Order: sequence, then structure tokens, then C-alpha cells
Amino acid sequence: ALAAAGRQGATADGTRIEVFANLGSLGDVAPALAQGAEGCGLLRTEFLFLDRADAPDEDEQAACYGGIARALEGRPLIVRLLDIGGDKPAPYLPIAAEENPALGLRGIRIGLARPEVLSTQLRAILRAASSGDIRIMVPMIARVEELRAVRQVLIAEAERLGVAVPQLGVMVETPAAAVMADLLAAECDFLSIGTNDLTQYTLAMDRGNPAVADGLDGLDPAVLRLVAQTCAGGSRFGKWVGVCGGLASDPLAAPLLVGLGVGELSAAPGQVAEIKATLAAVTDAGCAALARAALEAASAAEVRALALEMLREVGL
Ligand code: PEP
Ligand code: MG
Repeated sequence: ALAAAGRQGATADGTRIEVFANLGSLGDVAPALAQGAEGCGLLRTEFLFLDRADAPDEDEQAACYGGIARALEGRPLIVRLLDIGGDKPAPYLPIAAEENPALGLRGIRIGLARPEVLSTQLRAILRAASSGDIRIMVPMIARVEELRAVRQVLIAEAERLGVAVPQLGVMVETPAAAVMADLLAAECDFLSIGTNDLTQYTLAMDRGNPAVADGLDGLDPAVLRLVAQTCAGGSRFGKWVGVCGGLASDPLAAPLLVGLGVGELSAAPGQVAEIKATLAAVTDAGCAALARAALEAASAAEVRALALEMLREVGL
């Protein structure tokens, strides 16, 4: 897989599937490019905010995002707005104790509750945008109003700085976002499914709780039906749909996601070459047939068996 890592991401039929990498810092860029990453589909910006006493200011953020964009040498860089709160606390952003942090103030809800945090980050991204192909993605969207509120701030900050408004995408991490994907797609530039959170919220199983880890499977048909609905919603308005959650790193899941209509996979850096090799071995018709069968399956175990059978058939 590594020997062929420089090829474009595509199925055996040549259908283009962008294979990006998830990044957390500048140091992740070189290993990701060595694996053949064609861009960054998820920059987890909270790494800049955690384990420190004060929030990074606008200059520090702009330097960080610009540095990563330059290191990607023109490849797309999708910057996720701060996804802090829940299980990722920061001492300088005090959040009152919550009984259910995963259902509380986290992701974009914090940016909307603390407008200075959101606008500082947006200004930093806008200032870095001249360093590459930077796009913005909003985590934990549950309602169309949240997207509208972020876009309003983005437009205002872009006007103030006299720069163009970059592409704005929505992370589909809640069942609400998946079922509203068409209306979200009407108002954003792309959708990227965060299967880690989408799985926990769909199955009502805490992703950090070992007692339910057995059932917490992104290949559960309930999750896959929401992935299918998201893809249908995106295509209704001509917007591409990607996956940046853990499923995108899993060779067993990649052909299935493509069959469901996903056009971009953003994987852990170390998995990029293997995902490209898997896609190169499967046909469009094979992916579509697998997806149809998986949507009729009753359990994740059935889906896994179907996916494994398909990979075996193509010699993987
Ligand atoms: C996800 O939820 O799938 C995702 C990519 O975001 P994180 O894992 O950072 O919550
Ligand atoms: Mg998430």
C-alpha cells in the first residue's frame, strides 16, 4: 500500500474518492503526506487549546493554521472550529458541572455561548486563509439555526478583514443533523460525517464508557442508514459528503461508505495508504451492492460479515 501511496484516491473503476488525513498539529503533516494524504479533512483545533492555562490568542492561532496550510502545499485544509467541552475541558473556559456533558455545552454550542471565542478563531482562520486552500467546518451541529449563526459571524468577520468568505461545512455528528442533512446542505458547502459521535448519539452509548463498548459499532445498520440519509441530503443540493470519524480509517468500512455515496474519506494519517489501496481494489458496482445489503442487515455483526466477504472476493 505504501509503495502506491502517491496515486490518486479512486475505486478500481476510476471514480474519484479523495483520501485526506485527520491532523492535530503541524507535526502530523509530514507523516500524513508520506502516506499519500491528499489534504486534511479534519484539523482538530482543540489540541491548541488543551493542557494550558490561557486560550491561544488570534495571532498564535493564525500562525498555527497558516503553518499547517503551508506545509500542505496547496492541498485542502479543513479546519474544524473548536470542539471543546464534554470530555475535553479547558480551565480558562469554565463550564458549570453538567449531569450529561455529552448532551451539554460542547462543540459549536460553546462558540455560540461565548461569541469572543468563536470570532477570535474565525478571524485567525480568515487571516491564515491566504496560506493555502482553507475551509471551515462546524462541529456538533444539531439545528439549522446554529449553522446560520456561525455563517453570520463568519461573513461579518470576513467583511471586517476585507477577505473572501471561505467554504463552510457542517459536521454530521448528531442524528438531528443526519435527518436534516438536505436543509443543512442547502446552506453549507459540504457535509462531513463524524461517525464517532454519530454512533454514540444514535445508539445512545457513551463513546467513553467501556461497559457499552461492545455495542458501540459505527457499522451498526442504524448508523449506516443515517449515513445514507446524509448522502441523499447532500446530493439533493449538489454538496459533497465526506466521513472524518473513525470509520474512514477502517478498510472494512471504506467500500461500504463509498457505496452509500461518500466521496471523501479523512483517515488517521497512518491509515491513508491502506484506505487508498482498498479503494483501488473495489468496483463501484461492488460497493453499491454491499451498501444495499448493509442497509437491509439487522446487526453490525451482519454488516461486518458482508464487508469481510466483499474484501475477500477482491483478494484483500
Ligand atoms: C467524530 O465525532 O467522529 C469526530 C471526527 O470528531 P471527534 O472524534 O473529534 O469528536
Ligand atoms: Mg466528534
